[in-house]
Amino acid sequence: MNNIQIADKEFEIFLEHENINKRTRLLGIQINVDYEDRCPVFIGVLNGSILFISDLLKELDISCEVEFIKMSSYEGGLASTGTVKEIFGLPQNLHNRDVIIVEDIVDTGRTIKHIIEKLREQEPSSIKVCSLLFKPSALLEPVKELEYVGFEIPNDFVVGFGLDYNGLGRNLKDIYRATDTVTLPQS
Ligand code: 5GP
Repeated sequence: MNNIQIADKEFEIFLEHENINKRTRLLGIQINVDYEDRCPVFIGVLNGSILFISDLLKELDISCEVEFIKMSSYEGGLASTGTVKEIFGLPQNLHNRDVIIVEDIVDTGRTIKHIIEKLREQEPSSIKVCSLLFKPSALLEPVKELEYVGFEIPNDFVVGFGLDYNGLGRNLKDIYRATDTVTLPQS
């Protein structure tokens, strides 16, 4: 398969769309079972989760609500920056609700921990995380709410299917990984 160039970086195919679709369908089945007779609130984390959450929602036959928040911890380079910034658009009516946060990727876990902490202030009944990708070897501390994971992946930089490199590549239907070795900072 041909490698692609995005800005100054070369990427190779990593997860094909058919594979992502199959996994998303299975996650949907699992969520349908786990949340039968409940009405969870899905909170998609923009921008990265856009393609994943739209496919995931189509697999659900439960009653649910959908909200979106926007974060700014990642500034467009090859690794998370380590600074978690503001959350925009946080819904204010989550008391006693079942919340499922939908993410593109959990890397160090800082972003998701911060979101969970903020949501807890509203005392929802439950908080779970559904992430398309998870890099276990980059995780700094366990995220016990991480219940639904599409793919556990190595500590490579990935792009496509919602994930970007310098703002580019979100529209790619497959997921690619950077061909060069990228050292992610640990702090
Ligand atoms: P964390 O806080 O878990 O370290 O990562 C938070 C954010 O960093 C993710 O939501 C994502 O925006 C960005 N990120 C982490 N790893 C990658 C990656 O491999 N590719 C891309 N495109 N973004 C990443």
